Amino acid sequence: MAMDRRSFVKAGGSAALGLAFGGCAPRFAAQGGAVLAPYIAPGQIPSVVYPVHISWERVIRTTVGLRPFRPSGFRLEAERFDEKTIVHNFGHGGTGWSLSWGTATLATEHAVDAAGDSEDRRAAVLGAGIVGLTSARLLQRRGFDVTVYAAALSPETTSNMSWAGFTPVSGLVRQRTPEWDAQFRRAVAISYREHQLLVARGYGVSWIDSYSPTNSAGSTGGGGNREADGAGDSPLMPEGAETGTIVLGPGRHPFSTKYCRVGVQMRYEPSIYLEAIMRDIIAFGGKFIVRKFDTPRDLMSLDESVIVNCTGLGSKALFGDSELMPIKGQLTVLVPQPEINYTMGSMIPRSDGIVLGHTQLPDDWSLEVNQEALIRTMENALRNFHPSIFRRTPRAAPPMRVVSAEPAWEMAKYAAASPPPVEHFFGLES
Ligand SMILES: Cc1cc2nc3c(=O)[nH]c(=O)nc-3n(C[C@H](O)[C@H](O)[C@H](O)COP(=O)(O)OP(=O)(O)OC[C@H]3O[C@@H](n4cnc5c(N)ncnc54)[C@H](O)[C@@H]3O)c2cc1C
Repeated sequence: MAMDRRSFVKAGGSAALGLAFGGCAPRFAAQGGAVLAPYIAPGQIPSVVYPVHISWERVIRTTVGLRPFRPSGFRLEAERFDEKTIVHNFGHGGTGWSLSWGTATLATEHAVDAAGDSEDRRAAVLGAGIVGLTSARLLQRRGFDVTVYAAALSPETTSNMSWAGFTPVSGLVRQRTPEWDAQFRRAVAISYREHQLLVARGYGVSWIDSYSPTNSAGSTGGGGNREADGAGDSPLMPEGAETGTIVLGPGRHPFSTKYCRVGVQMRYEPSIYLEAIMRDIIAFGGKFIVRKFDTPRDLMSLDESVIVNCTGLGSKALFGDSELMPIKGQLTVLVPQPEINYTMGSMIPRSDGIVLGHTQLPDDWSLEVNQEALIRTMENALRNFHPSIFRRTPRAAPPMRVVSAEPAWEMAKYAAASPPPVEHFFGLES
């Protein structure tokens, strides 16, 4: 019987993973619609995971970013303004990191068409967030001289305030068209490939395990990019752009729950990544000019006749895009723990801190920290990383661990918090 990749991942992808882990074929038992992996070779899925130290005293910052959301999805098309062609590439909502290289590729194709046979290969990019920077690099790859104009540069863009995982269908759109779906699928496939090529090359891109302890073998959520926001069953995801999830049965994982879903997550470190791409742009002859534009008229004074607009939420005022609205997101960052090498629920570890998120407050333009959301984030984390969630805890700190042992009063705080309901926190959003 022919089997496409999606069915393969669902029905037997875990078997493939098991082979890769163990070198011998484990036997799998289907239960509650999920696939159980009763045996994993020692050393492949860790038998212990290091706990994240959650406490108010370890909070080092809380950041706020406004996701550029459009109910009908990102806008990707060319528009003529007098002698200039403006290629729009904005409105990525909670998926700007995930789709960046993909929509930048599509925008670059429009720019190449607009330039036609002209010998003038200069292009302007508006915006220096992840969408503008990837667009600038791809224009350079297609032979353009690029100048990036932006009101703000890293570390002051929305892209710096991102949770930043590969979550291509997170809270994406409400009104899709077949044309938009086709653009989206191409964008995901391209982006997924480009990001993989950046792993371990100094861009802050890496793969980490994703754990979802659960008492129900059939529950969804967490554990790999295919689960993000229902992506596991989303017909929107193109073939080959998702990893699988396995369900480890009782006794086969280090959590006190019956099961643990295990997947992988691609993560980005915004402060490393954005500055690395800026250096690349400069290395290939690009320039950055800090400048804010108030109306399309302002753009007419630019020398470049091809302009790629990646101003994110700024396009609402600049181009009068009435659909754009902010979805406020807040992240709370704790002291880094270099030994944490997995993501769980809304926690993602980075070299600059343990990141807890991610709130979604629609139509809220305020850049102030929302105290209620902050308290909620911390309370959830205290519950979700309560010591009772770990069946086995490490006897000793790993060699690279740099944090000090937990003082007794912190443990007392843990004890005061109630043990976690395990099912509620694994709905990956970004
Ligand atoms: C809390 C949070 C979590 C997130 N998690 C994820 C995730 O896990 N995965 C994911 O893929 N995405 C995630 N996102 C979404 C992602 O961060 C955004 O989609 C992305 O940053 C948008 O990038 P951008 O380049 O379009 O916009 P921005 O980063 O906002 O950049 C816009 C640029 O345009 C410039 N600009 C704006 N207006 C003007 C103007 N008038 N003139 C000149 N310059 C202008 C700005 O100065 C800036 O340089 C998250 C976002 C938040 C807030």
